[in-house]
Amino acid sequence: MKKTLRLFRIINMLLIILIIVLSISIFSASAYTTTGVKLNTDYVFSFVPYQGFTELTIDHFRNSANSWNSAAGLTLMSVSGERHNATGYPNNDNKHYVYKETRSDIRAVGQTTCYSSAWPNGNVLKSADVLINSYYQFANSQKENKFDTWSVFVHEAGHIAGLNHTNYTQDASIVMFPQAHMNFLRRYPQWDDINGINAIY
Ligand SMILES: [Zn+2]
Repeated sequence: MKKTLRLFRIINMLLIILIIVLSISIFSASAYTTTGVKLNTDYVFSFVPYQGFTELTIDHFRNSANSWNSAAGLTLMSVSGERHNATGYPNNDNKHYVYKETRSDIRAVGQTTCYSSAWPNGNVLKSADVLINSYYQFANSQKENKFDTWSVFVHEAGHIAGLNHTNYTQDASIVMFPQAHMNFLRRYPQWDDINGINAIY
């Protein structure tokens, strides 16, 4: 009986320490940064995917858009039922295309180019293009030597929403963590991403 009580006290103490450590790491580390360009909340930004993406990949794009919407509590973005067959990322043509191109000149698995306009008030996003760089190997799941398309796209969609890379470098599961990793999932906005999106909108 005494032993159980002592064990209980030790566990209690450890829990309190754990809570203190967690609080310090969460509250002292809000580290998101923003691009200074935000979406116009009067309309929904609709991505048009390249026709060569599979329906599963496009579903994952949709999940990515929805997760930012949930984090913001607003319908900011969606994925169109249309498909495009264009090449030539990036293109300032007022279209919101998701390209799939093999680009050895771009040393990134994904990239976003945003075109902004300062009118009517503030720096609002006019259009943006996303590249999924098939120079690298992708999968629709966690696989060795491959990048999860969902995890790459949700990061690029974060840039479109107005977030830049987080300065918090101790947690690679943060969507706006600067680097992508193979064989790794980071599909949903985390505390720092959620703080960031709510600071913008
Ligand atoms: Zn990035």
